[in-house]
Amino acid sequence: MEFSFITVQDTGAVRNIALARPAQRNAQSQQMLDELMLAFDSAKNDDGIRAVILSGEGEHFSAGHDLKQAQAERANFTVEERWAYEELRYFDYSMRIWDFPKPTIAQVQGACVAGGFMIANMCDLVIASESAYFSDPVGHTLGAAATEVLIHPWVMGARKAKEFLFSGERMSAKDAHAIGMVNKVVADSELAQTTMEMAQRIAQAPAFGLRLIKKSINRTVDAQGLRQALSAHFDTHQLSHLSDGFLTARDNGLAKAIQKNPEKAI
Ligand code: ZN
Repeated sequence: MEFSFITVQDTGAVRNIALARPAQRNAQSQQMLDELMLAFDSAKNDDGIRAVILSGEGEHFSAGHDLKQAQAERANFTVEERWAYEELRYFDYSMRIWDFPKPTIAQVQGACVAGGFMIANMCDLVIASESAYFSDPVGHTLGAAATEVLIHPWVMGARKAKEFLFSGERMSAKDAHAIGMVNKVVADSELAQTTMEMAQRIAQAPAFGLRLIKKSINRTVDAQGLRQALSAHFDTHQLSHLSDGFLTARDNGLAKAIQKNPEKAI
């Protein structure tokens, strides 16, 4: 398969799918997300692949959705158009990573922001380097109700999720590890190797057993209401796209709104 915005590399039974627009901090364009889903589908159907790493090339995992493209192509979307676009590419694609039948590990360095935070946290494990930081500043910068998939309280706990989203501030890899959102923090120079070692270790177990473990743990959080809560938030998020706060940010330029506050939002 030929890709332009991601790269795919196998090491034994482990497939590394990497976001590959490093000059744009791996900003997620429509094309990148479509390629990402093709790559996940292909990994799902390949019996030789037993674990998947989701990583980002360059200094940053991902700065989030490509807001330049959003401004150019979707600023004037109707409710119906935006709903269709975001339901497929942001909500359904994310849930396909969540439901992916094999273990997944997000390998995170640098910025892991907004849409980047969303897809990293769809993975089963997160391994971060010391340079990694997490943030979802869009309540501040765009007047949006967080990102489309409100995975935050499920991976951080409700109290930290509120602090994170209300303040728009960054959380360091160390703090993310302390609250259990990240499995391991390692030096930047050791990130790829540590993640690969963990993936290889996982890949040694019989595949069907792993699949059932994942299904059962995901069902545990489904029983707690994960899927209903995420679906309900998607609707709420769409409402925020019609708010004064969002429309003002859009009229001023979405990408500019983010750049205005680089410390808190990339
Ligand atoms: Zn949105």
